[in-house]
Amino acid sequence: MNRIDFRWHEPSSGSAGPFDLQTSSPILSILFILSMFGVLTAWLRLKAELHTRGFKRASNMVKRFAHLALLWRLVWLLACLGFTTAPALAGTERARPEIDVILWFDTEDYLSPADDDATLRLCQLLTARDIRATFKIVGEKARVLEQRGRRDVIAALRRHDIGFHGNLHSVHPTPTEYLADCGWLDGIAEFTRHEGGGAADVRRILGVETLACYGQPGSSWGPQAIAALPAIGVAPHGVPCYVDDGSPVGLDHRPFWYAGALNVFNLGPNCTRINVQDPEDLEPGKRQASEIATRLGGECGGLISIYFHPCEWIHQEFWDGVNFKRGANPPREQWKAPPQRTAAETEAAFQRFADYLDHIRSIPGVRWVTAGDLPLLYPDEVRTTGATANDLAELARRISSSPGRALDVISIGSRVYSVADQLELLTRAVHEVDAGRAVNFPLKALGLFGPDAPPPTDAITNLNWFAFRDATRGVFQFIVTEHRVPARVFIGADAVAPGDFLAALAGVWDFYVANGKLPIKQGVTLGSHASIVPEKYVAQDTPELFGGWIIHKAGFRAPKLMELARLQAWTLKPAVRALSGESTSALPASVPEVPK
Ligand SMILES: [Zn+2]
Repeated sequence: MNRIDFRWHEPSSGSAGPFDLQTSSPILSILFILSMFGVLTAWLRLKAELHTRGFKRASNMVKRFAHLALLWRLVWLLACLGFTTAPALAGTERARPEIDVILWFDTEDYLSPADDDATLRLCQLLTARDIRATFKIVGEKARVLEQRGRRDVIAALRRHDIGFHGNLHSVHPTPTEYLADCGWLDGIAEFTRHEGGGAADVRRILGVETLACYGQPGSSWGPQAIAALPAIGVAPHGVPCYVDDGSPVGLDHRPFWYAGALNVFNLGPNCTRINVQDPEDLEPGKRQASEIATRLGGECGGLISIYFHPCEWIHQEFWDGVNFKRGANPPREQWKAPPQRTAAETEAAFQRFADYLDHIRSIPGVRWVTAGDLPLLYPDEVRTTGATANDLAELARRISSSPGRALDVISIGSRVYSVADQLELLTRAVHEVDAGRAVNFPLKALGLFGPDAPPPTDAITNLNWFAFRDATRGVFQFIVTEHRVPARVFIGADAVAPGDFLAALAGVWDFYVANGKLPIKQGVTLGSHASIVPEKYVAQDTPELFGGWIIHKAGFRAPKLMELARLQAWTLKPAVRALSGESTSALPASVPEVPK
């Protein structure tokens, strides 16, 4: 992957540095120019006077006046320089990203009524400290809160961000179990069918229009689940968000875009927690939180992920392990509540947690964020602002010059282009020119999913322009209707890999930028066996990847699902944190609307 600054926006080529007047007030800039003009005119007048009369013969009055005028204008110049650059420098200071902390609770134990009380107390403990957390609620948990008449718990939860954590969590088949042998589209449909009702219940019972995020039960992950999020109402600010921990995919322990969603996942050393039941864990946990904050501060900011389950305060064993361990699937009538902690143990755990929170609050520069804040903290400028003509030329140039046809994420300024973004934008641009229209820059990417099947292995090397033109028209039609990268691109009866087609598109755009016309006479060179570099961030299928979760059968594997996950590497790219000043005002109000 290209070297990318994940932390803050690099200045675009030719844009303002800290001393650039473009970043300051226009009035001060005018004063600065006027004073420069003043210094120049004073100097010229002095020179003219001395030239015509000679320095010795010039009157003392003239000499003094000329010197004073020069001095006065110099002082003005320096003052204006100070005023004009100060805001720019201060802006640089403001732009220094903070250390964000996302605190999330998988709220899932629908068997223990004591878990309702633990959830209520956690909500209140956080609200008393003015901290908004993200509660990812299981569909069945929302339903039992309603059935048990716990309006107090529902009202307390509503002061926080509401996410989703599956309909029944650990009842078999779990998401990976039912997605394992699905393809792309039927997998999205299966996830929507299994989980959509639960998501609707959480939205209805908690009184929220949109769920802030989803995260899988245990390790029961699948790429089709991520793509299905808009269909089940998980899209704060219109952007699907995925918040959890796990290892199937990850990007340098920072937030990333993947399969159309903003993912806070696999944060590795930036994910921390304590065992609230273990007195020995508190001090090391506090130290670890401080160390992460110090390290991220040195890296100019970042995101810390901390998660708990309300049931950790009240149970001796996880509620689902008691019932659904290693593929067990007792009927609802036989579900058992897990063994509970004593009141004293629960109380001590709350005290420990309060101590842990207060420690994190005291770390300088930390800021609590929720899943619902993520789309504003990590805007995707390729979608919102779009690619400039220079960006597109640069994309084509870099793809064409990449050694060994290695297709990778490309970062230009604060805009980060996934391989799928590159294919979408270049296809649309070549299609416009082919249709005899000017490309309407900036060109926004709507966002494509990756292909739904591995590419064909056949390769064609050279094509006449008309065969390539017709293939491009076919790809354009495909992406407009299917919103994903085609698994194969047809050149008449032959199918080639979409990566090879992208390499050819880049060559065509390069030619167009250099010559102002398409290579109608020259024809097109297709790539051969282009590789998708971000595939390296998708895990290999191993017995532990899914079988490591105690609810799945030992050694349970999902190789087909991981193959689809690898194909979605087309969409993988780092999420770039907005400058801190940009997002603050746009963040949502901290308390949602009053319950109905
Ligand atoms: Zn869970």
